[in-house]
Amino acid sequence: MDKELEDSMMPGMLSSGGFLGRNEKLEDVLREDDKTVKKLGLTHEKIADRIAYLIDAIGYPRREGKLIDGKYLVGGIVFRGGQKCPWGDAGFMMPNSNVDLYVQNQETGERLDFPGGIVHLIREHHFYEGKKSPYRVDPELAARVLNIK
Ligand SMILES: [Zn+2]
Repeated sequence: MDKELEDSMMPGMLSSGGFLGRNEKLEDVLREDDKTVKKLGLTHEKIADRIAYLIDAIGYPRREGKLIDGKYLVGGIVFRGGQKCPWGDAGFMMPNSNVDLYVQNQETGERLDFPGGIVHLIREHHFYEGKKSPYRVDPELAARVLNIK
C-alpha cells in the first residue's frame, strides 16, 4: 500500500481529524471492512447508493432534519470548503464533502453520522475511514440504521 497515501490520511494532514487514526494501516482497514460488508451480504456500491439516495432526498441539509420515507430523519450542516480525496481522483473536492450529515432511524432511534464525502470514498475506494478516525462510518451500523439489504 502506498506509504504517501497512508501518510496523507493521518490527523492534521488532509483533514484535521484524519482519515485514519495514528498507527492505523490503510490495508488493514480496507481488508476488515471488505470482510464485514461481504459478511452482511452487501456490496460497497449498495451502501454508497443508499447513503447517496438519502442525501439527494433532503436537498439542502437542515440541522433539524427532514423526514424521508416516513422513517428516516436526515439532516446536517453545510460549511465552506470541502475535502480533497486522498486518492486524488475526485477533482478539487469530493462531491458533498462540504456537509456533515446524520440519519436517525425513527423506529429504532439509532443514528448514523457521516461526512458527505463518504459516498465517494465508499463507492470508489471501499473506504469507510479508519476505526480511530472521528469521521468513520461503520458499515455494520450503516446497514442497520439505513436498512440496507
Ligand atoms: Zn477518490
